[in-house]
Amino acid sequence: DTFADAEFCQPLNDNIMRARYSRPTPIQKHAVPMAMNGRDVMACAQTGSGKTAAFLFPIIDGIIRNGLGAGGGGGGGRGRGRGGGGFGRGYGGRRSALPAALVLAPTRELASQIHDEAMRFTYQTPVRCLVAYGGADIRMQMDELARGCGIIVATPGRLVDLIERGRVSLRGIKYLVLDEADRMLDMGFEPQIRKIVQSYDMPQEDTSKGGRQTAMFSATFPRDIQQLAGDFMADYIFVTV
Ligand code: AMP
Repeated sequence: DTFADAEFCQPLNDNIMRARYSRPTPIQKHAVPMAMNGRDVMACAQTGSGKTAAFLFPIIDGIIRNGLGAGGGGGGGRGRGRGGGGFGRGYGGRRSALPAALVLAPTRELASQIHDEAMRFTYQTPVRCLVAYGGADIRMQMDELARGCGIIVATPGRLVDLIERGRVSLRGIKYLVLDEADRMLDMGFEPQIRKIVQSYDMPQEDTSKGGRQTAMFSATFPRDIQQLAGDFMADYIFVTV
């Protein structure tokens, strides 16, 4: 009952030690090994369950191991933003950030909390984490993106805006998380979420074909969430705590 079983890379283990997360919570205990095995996961878990670390740890581990936070970023990547996912050409032919991981969240508060946790566990690693939400100055977010990005945490509307301005490309996404998917649907984000996941340059293959790995979190599992899970993941493990 420790994180040692997960065999995370050393910098992540060091950060887990620093945070004094001595034992995994139930959602972490169940979801982390699945994600570390490359499986897509649909998890029903509440705030306070430790769900943020449950999805961030396997992502951070994978990005560090595969050098994706430090430049990689996939075909066409140019230059090496410090800790960014490299750069590519986005909409309008602009130089875009090529993050390896995208976390979608319903509100700026949740997005900020996820970003804080991501910063905490990427400390002293090359992985650069950014957060982008509506209601804040988009130019500052664009300037940050211009310096590269390994993990982006975003609200759906603002992300669509940044993609259409050519500032971020989804072409290099290896990890996709939809956090509090039920709240995102309640808030009317379904069209933006579908656009993000099913169009632009989001890789459509799953990990068995070298594509993206997906995780969805929701407090409940009603019809519309089941539908979304089925549409976004070919073969997922269902975890409930
Ligand atoms: P979350 O459900 O992700 O919002 O996490 C709820 C709180 O639990 C946050 O303050 C985390 O920092 C904390 N937390 C998450 N996992 C652990 C763990 N394994 N050990 C101790 N605290 C944790």
